[in-house]
Amino acid sequence: MEITRSVLDEIVARLLAQGLKAAAEAAPKSDTSNNDPWLVPIGVSNRHIHLSRSDMDALFGPGSNLTRMGALKQPGQYAAEETLVLRGPKGQIAKVRVLGPLRKETQIEISIADGFTLGIKPPMRMSGKLEQSAGVELVGPYGTVKKESGVIVALRHIHMLPSEAERLGLKNGDEVDVVIDGVRGGVMNHVTIRAAEASIPEMHIDVEEANAFGLKNNVLVRIRKV
Ligand SMILES: [Zn+2]
Repeated sequence: MEITRSVLDEIVARLLAQGLKAAAEAAPKSDTSNNDPWLVPIGVSNRHIHLSRSDMDALFGPGSNLTRMGALKQPGQYAAEETLVLRGPKGQIAKVRVLGPLRKETQIEISIADGFTLGIKPPMRMSGKLEQSAGVELVGPYGTVKKESGVIVALRHIHMLPSEAERLGLKNGDEVDVVIDGVRGGVMNHVTIRAAEASIPEMHIDVEEANAFGLKNNVLVRIRKV
């Protein structure tokens, strides 16, 4: 049988279309060469701990320092090799990652389900707002620290430069909606803009939010003004 040029073209076109359709259905768009200013990549935060100098000393030994394991996207931030056990009234969670550098105040960021496991009820807060937050016990290789407060469920937010925010007609502290594609797609309301110098555009959500919306690191989502 002779395959004419036009039949061949038809076959190639169909295969190409099928391939593109399959690729498009496989996952929401993930692209690092992003030119649309309204698109921002996702960064999923697993449970983690920021430590103060005094808690670092008490948990890992006086004068101890964090060991840098891997850089995070936000400049200067890194995952440390050090981990701790979180111990609550109902249970404990081991191998909780410490993030560096050290901070003024210890802050523990967990998911709502982690709170169930531990038997505590942390409030949903922006980073740094620790008044009346939940307590937990931190167990390290050197010692143990009982925190009366410091545990929060971090509110989702978008990091960007002030100049990028301005380009979108936004400023630090503004709330936006975020539209997500895919089979678990939807709209996230009340997403706070965190505009600061030396930041990389990135939307931070926790593991539960990521799973609920079928999101992974670097998937692009769309900012929508409220
Ligand atoms: Zn963040």
